[in-house]
This record gives sequence, structure tokens and C-alpha cells, in this order.
Amino acid sequence: MRTGVYGGSRSHGDLHSLDIIEDRSCRGRSGLPARYQKGRFLGKGGFAKCYEVQDLETKEIFAAKIVSKASITKPRAHAKLRSEIAIHRELCHDKVVKFYDYFEDADHVYIMLELCANQTLNEFMRRRPPKRLAEPEAIFYVYELVLALQYLHRRRVIHRDLKLGNLFLDHSMRLKVGDFGLAAQLEYDGERKRTICGTPNYIAPEILEGKHGHSFEVDIWSLGVIIYTMVIGRPPFETSDVKTTYKRIRINQYSFPDSVRVSPQVKELIGRILQTDPGKRPSLEEILNSSWFRSSRMPPLMPDSVSHCSTSPR
Ligand code: ADP
Repeated sequence: MRTGVYGGSRSHGDLHSLDIIEDRSCRGRSGLPARYQKGRFLGKGGFAKCYEVQDLETKEIFAAKIVSKASITKPRAHAKLRSEIAIHRELCHDKVVKFYDYFEDADHVYIMLELCANQTLNEFMRRRPPKRLAEPEAIFYVYELVLALQYLHRRRVIHRDLKLGNLFLDHSMRLKVGDFGLAAQLEYDGERKRTICGTPNYIAPEILEGKHGHSFEVDIWSLGVIIYTMVIGRPPFETSDVKTTYKRIRINQYSFPDSVRVSPQVKELIGRILQTDPGKRPSLEEILNSSWFRSSRMPPLMPDSVSHCSTSPR
């Protein structure tokens, strides 16, 4: 990272209109600090508020994730943001939300991301009765997610918080994986992580168990939970309290409701993925070769050219 805690020099945001964000570490073409006009509010997370912003000079539009420094005074919160920036800024793939820049002023850290104008798959499914996806639609999005995961895992990045709410949709409704706040980058093959993290409904049993550590297979588990949620309309282990959900995950207790008709191929794939023993779960390639994927007309394979960033981070 550059100067300061997160890089970037200090600016005096409070001297300017609250609707202008200024990056004093970056000079635009005019030689002046880059300035962004704050636009519509996009959403709020654990630490961040996200707004649509426009670069006043280039007119480019971004999503600015704004984190108040007052909210990250605890060492763990601070470390989480540092790690999110360090991991995300190195990623560059068509199916991953692009990371453009980050800087800070006296009160905030700003992360400039690719704008995903259509929110996430979570809102998309909630908005649209019957609140689940038809299987061809699910195959389309799961295919995009698998491409993202192949890229991340090749780079030894485990996302660790895959869920519908972290699968963003761009202006043309294509999927982009985002929020690397809980991601981990392994230093060597075979390294095991031990921190307990994830979102209750999607968390893998070996993370709850905590004995032998966990690795890439936790993302495969979450992928299984995502497929189930897409086609059934609610997560497989969901209950009204977290403790019972964790118990169900540990003993692998879930079923397919009679009220929703799904194909035997998708049931078979979900069953193969949601196995307590991480070593028994299929690889990403095996998932793409499953009868569920082969049962439908696959979306065309993307040429290599689109799997690399079209705009390079500044
Ligand atoms: P946190 O790390 O604090 O949990 P998130 O990354 O979840 O914050 O972002 C908070 C919210 O901001 C998200 O739920 C979403 O509504 C919105 N958001 C985040 N990134 C983008 C983006 N790239 N494009 C559009 N909206 C976004």
C-alpha cells in the first residue's frame, strides 16, 4: 500500500461540498486532484455505504464503497479492510467486480469499484415471483459463477462468503462476484485456514467444526447452497435461529420440498456438492461436466478476450 494506512494522501473532504469526493493522491488530466460527484445511494453493508459516483473530468461512473474510519478502530475490522483491498485490487476478470482505485481522507476510506447497476441476485430473486429461478436461468448464472471461481482458485483466493447477496449484476444482467471482505489468499498449495467466517446459511460444515482447517472446498459448498436456493427459492438449511441452522449443517439435514418441481439432475448435483467431507465434493470442472449442465443448452463458451479486464485499473 502507498502512504498512510490505506495509501493515498489526506484530503480535506470537509472543506468541500459533501457531495464531492476528492482524491488528492491522484492527478487528473488537468493536473488537479481527481474529483467525483456523489450520486444515488446503492446500499449498505457491515461497514460500508455504497454510492454511485461520477468522475467529474472523465465522466466515468463507478460504485464508491465508503468506509468511515470511526467504524474500523478495532484491529480486526481494520485488518479485514486491509485484506479486502490487498486481495481485491490484484484481481482482474470479467466475472469479478473490477477494483479501480482506493484512497482516503481524514474520515473515510474510499474504494472505487465497477458499478453493478442491477444490485445482486438476492434482490433479483426477491423482486420476481415465484422468487426462484427456472433451471436454465440458474444454469446460466451458475456457469458464470464457476468461471469466476476457476479464476479465483487458480490464484489461490478463497472467497469464503459466497451467497446470492454477493453475486452482483451489471447493467446487462451479467454476474460479477464481489465483496472480498472475508476472502483469503493462500500462500502455498495445501495451506489450511482456521478463522471462522461466512454467512450462517451458506457456511460449510468444516468451518463450523474448525478442527482441520478449511480450503477451497468451502466455496464449492456455498456454490451447492446457492444452486439449491436458486431453484427452490430458499436456502437448504434455513431455520428461524442460527444455532439450529448450524446443527442442520453439521448433520447435513436438508430436503427437497414436494411443492417445487426440480429436475433429478439438479438434485443429484446438489447432493454431490453438499457432502460433509470436503474431499468428496466435486471439483469445478466436474460440476461443469455434470448431467445438469449437460442437460441444457450451455451458454456459449466465452472467448479468452472477454475473460481479461477491458479497462486496466488505474
Ligand atoms: P460491506 O463490506 O460493508 O458488507 P458490501 O460490499 O456488502 O459492504 O456493500 C454494501 C452494499 O453496497 C451492497 O449490499 C450493495 O447493495 C452495494 N454495493 C456494493 N458494491 C457494489 C457495486 N460494485 N455496485 C453496486 N452496488 C454495490
